[in-house]
Amino acid sequence: MTSSSEGNKQELQKELEALKKQNEQLEKKAREANARAEAANHLKAMFLTNISHEIRTPMNGILGMYNVLRQTNLSSEQREFLDIINISGQNLLSIIDDIIDLSKIESGQIQLEAIEFNLKKEMERIIELLSIKARGKGIELISEVDPTTQINLIGDAGRLKQIITNLANNAIKYTKEGSVKIKVEPVEQTDQSSKLKFSIIDTGIGISEEGKQKLFKAFSQIDSSSTRKYGGTGLGLAIAKNLSKIMQGDIGVESELGKGSTFWFTAKFSMAPNAGLGSTAFHTDRSDGSDKLHILLVEDNLLNQKFATASLRKVGHKVDIAENGKAAVEKYQKNEYDLILMDIQMPVMDGIEATKKIRIIEKEKEVDKPIKIIAITAYVMERDRKMCLRAGMDEYLAKPFKPQELISLINKVYYGQE
Ligand code: ADP
Repeated sequence: MTSSSEGNKQELQKELEALKKQNEQLEKKAREANARAEAANHLKAMFLTNISHEIRTPMNGILGMYNVLRQTNLSSEQREFLDIINISGQNLLSIIDDIIDLSKIESGQIQLEAIEFNLKKEMERIIELLSIKARGKGIELISEVDPTTQINLIGDAGRLKQIITNLANNAIKYTKEGSVKIKVEPVEQTDQSSKLKFSIIDTGIGISEEGKQKLFKAFSQIDSSSTRKYGGTGLGLAIAKNLSKIMQGDIGVESELGKGSTFWFTAKFSMAPNAGLGSTAFHTDRSDGSDKLHILLVEDNLLNQKFATASLRKVGHKVDIAENGKAAVEKYQKNEYDLILMDIQMPVMDGIEATKKIRIIEKEKEVDKPIKIIAITAYVMERDRKMCLRAGMDEYLAKPFKPQELISLINKVYYGQE
């Protein structure tokens, strides 16, 4: 070997060593960046949980008092002003929910429910909810369930409703005149499962080819002027896409600028044992429980106390109030209650601890029938729900809620009525 080739070899060796070192440094940096990103993600999740709680609690008071105030004697002008408060509140709440939801989806925290539901009934509820907005804009709202669709299904009706209302709200938002139609049809039906296609068809502003490329991504709006004109966060479609995927489906859009859009998605459900077709008549709502109950409401917030009490007394229940967990345990020992509504975050003693104490007392006294405890809380993450159930609560209601939601849940928990 010549001395020059020896020199070259040494040179190459040196370069190789230097590259190796560089590589190691880069790997180390990547690992550090990864750890930082994970820590930041964790912080973000914690921040979102806290902030959602902080915002949801006062919102419960605001929206709750709207319901109470709406039932009093008001002039038509006052009623109109009040409705604006309600709409703004609901909007704010839906933005908060969108942010929480996306964070849940991103961290893989979404767990679908598998509960029996009647599709036609759900559709009716959705239409009822959307009709106020549609009517307000003079838009015709049509719903069409293909008669061959199996309507008794098992799945997450709440999440299904969320996707449909998301897309339909957009359809109404981006349509000036004409109609919005929600169509349901089966794609694949077996004895065990049913894959359905939902199409939301509007006669609105439509979307350009370029615009279509931007859809279904988080915080993506076709152009920023749209945000100013129509509001919104650009989260709805990203959430809808993720949810349809979790439901073993897909999502897409067909649209022509100026003519209108059809947003569609598919989702798979299990078949309920007593399957029925789209034309089957559904049972009417049962009454709000035959016997009136003696309920202990554990809540520290005055507005929330008033709202829940008004809702419960309206259907005839008797209500006692405890302002924190400690007072609740004392009242529970002194009086006979049928059911406890338990807030989670309270001063002196929180709802989790109070529930645990009550369950211990029951064990000591060897009671036959443990008291039903429903958590009412602004915490909305899945792990918060689990924490409540683990502490011994029977059910869980997220704030803010409508009076009917509270009454229905009480009926479900106490009487076993759905
Ligand atoms: P947001 O409506 O909150 O802005 P979305 O994720 O629901 O967020 O929608 C993203 C964008 O897609 C909207 O900003 C809008 O430009 C466009 N878009 C959604 N639905 C429609 C529709 N039905 N017609 C026209 N454009 C739509």
